[in-house]
Amino acid sequence: MEKFNLIIDGKSVATERYFEVINPATLEVVGLCPSADNSHLDQAVAAAQRAFGPWSATDDAVRAQKINELADALEQNMEELMRLLTMEMGKPLGGYQGIGSGMEVGGSIAWTRATAALTLPVEIIQDNEDAYIEVHRKPLGVVGSIPPWNWPLMIAIWHVMPALRTGNTVVIKPSSLTPLTTLRFVEIANRILPPGVFNIVTAEKGIGSAMARHPGISKMVFTGSTPTGKNIMENASCNLKRLTLELGGNDAGIVLPDVDVAVVAPQIFASAFNNNGQTCAALKRLYVHEEIYERMCAALTEIARGVVTGNGLDAGVDLGPLQNKDQLDLVVELAEDARRAGGKFLCGGVKPEGPGYFYPATLVAEVSDGVRLVDEEQFGPILPIIRYSDVNDAVRRANNSVFGLGGSVWGRDIQQAKALAMQLECGTAWVNTHATIQPNAPFGGVKESGFGVEFARDGLAEYTSIQTVKIQK
Ligand code: NAD
Repeated sequence: MEKFNLIIDGKSVATERYFEVINPATLEVVGLCPSADNSHLDQAVAAAQRAFGPWSATDDAVRAQKINELADALEQNMEELMRLLTMEMGKPLGGYQGIGSGMEVGGSIAWTRATAALTLPVEIIQDNEDAYIEVHRKPLGVVGSIPPWNWPLMIAIWHVMPALRTGNTVVIKPSSLTPLTTLRFVEIANRILPPGVFNIVTAEKGIGSAMARHPGISKMVFTGSTPTGKNIMENASCNLKRLTLELGGNDAGIVLPDVDVAVVAPQIFASAFNNNGQTCAALKRLYVHEEIYERMCAALTEIARGVVTGNGLDAGVDLGPLQNKDQLDLVVELAEDARRAGGKFLCGGVKPEGPGYFYPATLVAEVSDGVRLVDEEQFGPILPIIRYSDVNDAVRRANNSVFGLGGSVWGRDIQQAKALAMQLECGTAWVNTHATIQPNAPFGGVKESGFGVEFARDGLAEYTSIQTVKIQK
């Protein structure tokens, strides 16, 4: 059984205790994860503070070059990282429409390269007889990163690369459910980066809140659930840490009556069952116009029935297991609640016997707002399909949520679809697509889906503070 170690100040650090990381498909142990205590966290923060001076003073082009070398390293180790990811997270190596470990590691490489190419040049905002004014973007110091378990490597990359690119140093704490791919990646990255620039601590509990309270950390970037985000915000107030909070979502998709059902159904299915539904910006509530409701249900059911759920290491598997038992239990609970509320199960809905946290792709028709499956974030392979007759009412219902991550409108009349999409209260409004994020488009939530954005120039700026320099003439 492979034992992983912490990486602090460029060195591999063993801990007294280790805990088991479980493969959700087989319930076998994938590897042993180190259990850090607060003194390890203090050491990691101290190392990152020491490294901050030289790293922040390093020439911008050299930092960009190092980030590109990290992308090369991800590429060289792609196969090992993919397997480890599939074993600890459950997602298939390939997966439905290619949304699996290959996409996660491939996306990590693409995002890393895109971040290397970004710059935040000095802005000259005034140069006249009165004064000369420049605006500089300066790194913040030590950034604390806490990613979730659903896209563990990719989200770690989203946090870490812009932080490093802008001259910050990092302490990362991955989810205790999926720490191994990140541990391996930090080990690889430390062959490229100077000691102390990128550190990792892992533990089963407690270390995340200790990070949020740590006076040596200047900013927290967190992706995870809304309650945890609120807790981090409270703890981070001790030294007024900067925050980027990418939290939960309950994205609605609204399908207009003019769509070509055969064309959009596979795209809608892929958006909703992306990573087995365990994606923050997956389509989680589908509002379909009554004129095409039956046809859309039939088309989605045909796709769902053809989907193979199984061990992600096996060839031909489209969807893996849920990542953990709590998530599976929630999906079962929401399904049973929807059944009691009169929901019509078009397919799935029965948890299979045997080991592993499996649940089949499930579609529930004839449910509506007020049922938990519609109102709450299910974060699993079960999609409620809601009938509507008035599109303005559908928009109102879509917006009737504490969340505001993404939303979509599907229709042939692009101007109409766009106008409706822009009425959605969310960070990204998609037309004829959903959850198709990319490195050159800012991404973030509104309302209780969090604040701050990731990606592109706006995302990079989140890891800096402004220094205005004014020279009076
Ligand atoms: P979670 O909030 O339970 O855990 C996220 C991370 O926070 C883990 O690393 C965990 O160990 C750590 N943590 C737990 N308690 C903490 C505390 N008090 N202080 C600091 N850290 C703590 O979330 P999860 O179950 O891992 O992920 C699922 C959730 O993440 C869903 O709600 C999903 O929508 C959301 N998510 C959002 C995005 C986005 O970009 N908006 C992306 C992916 C997932």
